[in-house]
Amino acid sequence: MPLPSPGRPRLRLALAAAGLVLILAGCVPTGTTRESANPQDAQTVQENLAVAANNLRSYAILDDEFAPEIRAHLFGIPGLRSLSSVTEARVLAAIESNGSFGGRAAYSPVLTDPAARRPAERFIVAPQVQDPRTTGAPTSGASDAGTAGKFPTEAEESEPGERLEIGNEVLAAGGDFLVSRLWVRGPGDDRPQASVLVTQISTDTTVDIGDLFDAEVDAAAIAVDAFGHVTLEGSQVPEKSLTALGRTVSKSLRTPLALPAAADERRPDYSCSLLPCVALTYDDGPGDPEGEDSLLDAAAEAGVRLTYFLLGRNVAAFPGTVERMVDQGHEIANHTHSHPQLDRSSPATVRAQVRQADDAIEAAGAGRPELLRPPFGALDSAAAGVLGHPAILWDVDTEDWRHKNPGKVVASVARDARPGSIVLMHSIHPSTIEASPQVFRTVAEKGLYAVTTSELFAGVELSAGAQYYCRGYGSELCSNPEHPAVLRK
Ligand SMILES: [Zn+2]
Repeated sequence: MPLPSPGRPRLRLALAAAGLVLILAGCVPTGTTRESANPQDAQTVQENLAVAANNLRSYAILDDEFAPEIRAHLFGIPGLRSLSSVTEARVLAAIESNGSFGGRAAYSPVLTDPAARRPAERFIVAPQVQDPRTTGAPTSGASDAGTAGKFPTEAEESEPGERLEIGNEVLAAGGDFLVSRLWVRGPGDDRPQASVLVTQISTDTTVDIGDLFDAEVDAAAIAVDAFGHVTLEGSQVPEKSLTALGRTVSKSLRTPLALPAAADERRPDYSCSLLPCVALTYDDGPGDPEGEDSLLDAAAEAGVRLTYFLLGRNVAAFPGTVERMVDQGHEIANHTHSHPQLDRSSPATVRAQVRQADDAIEAAGAGRPELLRPPFGALDSAAAGVLGHPAILWDVDTEDWRHKNPGKVVASVARDARPGSIVLMHSIHPSTIEASPQVFRTVAEKGLYAVTTSELFAGVELSAGAQYYCRGYGSELCSNPEHPAVLRK
């Protein structure tokens, strides 16, 4: 099947900027337009898909709050931020254009039972079946070829209805590239809208697959066959119809997949604009090193990151503990030097208290903190005016300092934590540390993603002196520039 004539102007910004096209131009293969079907290639293709399946993580968003209801199943792979951010932007645009923001300025993430997350293999598209005795001609028309490699896959399982259905899936992966397809089917649509994304792993860059072709193509018609060759409407795409990048990607798909080596698997692949997140915060430390170590161990075991609001004087007393917190990727923030009540302190005292804690934290190797929590949550306009940091409050108060009861800490989180919450705890109480493994389990079982406070607010511009109770998605106690009506200053 001939491709339309070339000449389509197309942005190739991301990869071109990375110099990829130029660098790899020397490796462009020449030769036949149809390569032979090599059994070794078929094995590599399967092995690569298995590696992708073993490394991907499954996300489910089942949202019935506004019409149309949303049914989204997405995969992400640690270290491929470019893929998840392009995917997330398109998912949010689809949700908004279908009306599922419910009139709000932003999407309000919902809790979804983790049991709804699909198994990894359902995000893998089986390669198009071919007869290895031929020269690689696809047998997609044959009755035994089934629907493998055809589009849509997951989407065709259900009839068009009133729901907004969204999914992404791995079409192929190999060498330095991963090819995925994102589909969106709005209410009543017969067919989903598809886009196919090509991610270069080493540079973490993602572009539309159109950049691989010399002409405009229908993304829904693109597949990869069992031998790692890109196909269009079931036919192998001739080399001459591919750009230099396209030939490089095509060749890579028949080599072993190399996923990112050092990705932080504790970080969710999607942001808190789409996922229901919670920030678990611990104040007043560092406390005694043994207790803090237990908490750090529990966090490592659960694969969660925490936010510590530390007192400058305690940081100076236990710099080694701060170092471990930093090494393990937790967020360190300012809780003043010695815990005064800022609304009863002079502006000069507030400034000095904030600066001393900033200095101590920086001296301990944690960098200059961005965020601050006023002791007792007490802040008046005079103190706010000289704070120099956003004031991070909380919407879930475990009252752990009062009852010192691990069961009550867990119960508070189980009952009150919701998407966007900030949970207040204190690492100086053994009862709170004892509760922490169960707190982490409770959060995960609710379907919440534990993130640092800065991650919770990613994409939201925080102002010095303003107070933030949670990432607000509609509660009057929360503040968020996405919902200015509930911003409290
Ligand atoms: Zn405190």
